[in-house]
Amino acid sequence: ALEIHNVRKDFGSERVLKDVSISIDSGEFLILVGPSGCGKSTLMNTIAGLEPVTSGNIYIDGEDVTWRPPSDRDIAMVFQSYALYPSMTVRQNISFGLEMRKVPKPEREAAVERVADLLQITPLLERKPSQLSGGQRQRVAMGRALAREPKVYLFDEPLSNLDAKLRVDMRTEIKKLHQRLGTTIVYVTHDQVEAMTLADCIAVMRDGCILQLGSPDEVYNNPVDMFVAGFMGSPS
Ligand code: ATP
Ligand code: MG
Repeated sequence: ALEIHNVRKDFGSERVLKDVSISIDSGEFLILVGPSGCGKSTLMNTIAGLEPVTSGNIYIDGEDVTWRPPSDRDIAMVFQSYALYPSMTVRQNISFGLEMRKVPKPEREAAVERVADLLQITPLLERKPSQLSGGQRQRVAMGRALAREPKVYLFDEPLSNLDAKLRVDMRTEIKKLHQRLGTTIVYVTHDQVEAMTLADCIAVMRDGCILQLGSPDEVYNNPVDMFVAGFMGSPS
C-alpha cells in the first residue's frame, strides 16, 4: 500500500501541497488529475523522494520512507520532462537502473528486449537521446521505468507527446501490464479518456488540496462540487 499522510510542501512562502493525504491499496491504479500548477508533479516528486516534504509522512507497505533517498524507496518514475541520460544509448538508458541494482547481464538484456518490444523502440536501441523525436524519448523514459519491477510506479503524463494512435496503443499496453504485474501505480494525466479507462480510483486536485478521491464512477457521477463536476465533464 501507498500512504501519503498530511504531506505539506512549501517553496519559499508558497504552499504548494496543503496537507495532502491519500491512501491506496497495493496493486491499485490511482489517477491524479487537476489544473496546471495545482501541485501534481510536486506531489509525485515528494513520493519519489526527489523533493523533501516540509511536513507529513509517506509510507510504502507500512514503512516510513519519508526521509529515505529515492534509491531506497523501490519506486520507478517517468518524469514529465523524461530526463534521459544524454551520453548513453537508448539501450544503456533502459538498462542503467537494473545495473545499479546489480541485476545480472542476461536478465538486463532480456528486460531491455521485452520493454523495447512493448514500446516499439527496438530499432532505436543503439541511438542517443539527441537522435530521437520527443515521442520516442518519452517511450524510452517509459521503458527505463518498466524494465524494473518496483513496488510503485509513478508516471507523470507519460503519453503526453505521443500521437493519437500510439497513445491508444500505449494506454492498452499499460492497462495489460498493470493487470499482469499488479503493481501500484500513480499516474498523472490531463486526458479524461485515459483517466476513466485506466483508473481504479481518481484523485482530483486543486490548489494543493485533494478535493475528491473515489472510483471513476463516483467522481464522474457524484462529484463533490462544481469544480470537480466541471473538471470531470460530469453530466449536470
Ligand atoms: P502541470 O499540470 O502544468 O504539470 P502541476 O500540477 O504538475 O502542473 P507543479 O509542477 O507541481 O504543478 O507546480 C505546482 C506549483 O509549484 C506551481 O506554482 C509551480 O510554479 C511551483 N513549483 C514547482 N516546482 C517548484 C520549485 N522547484 N521551486 C519553486 N516553485 C515550484
Ligand atoms: Mg506537472
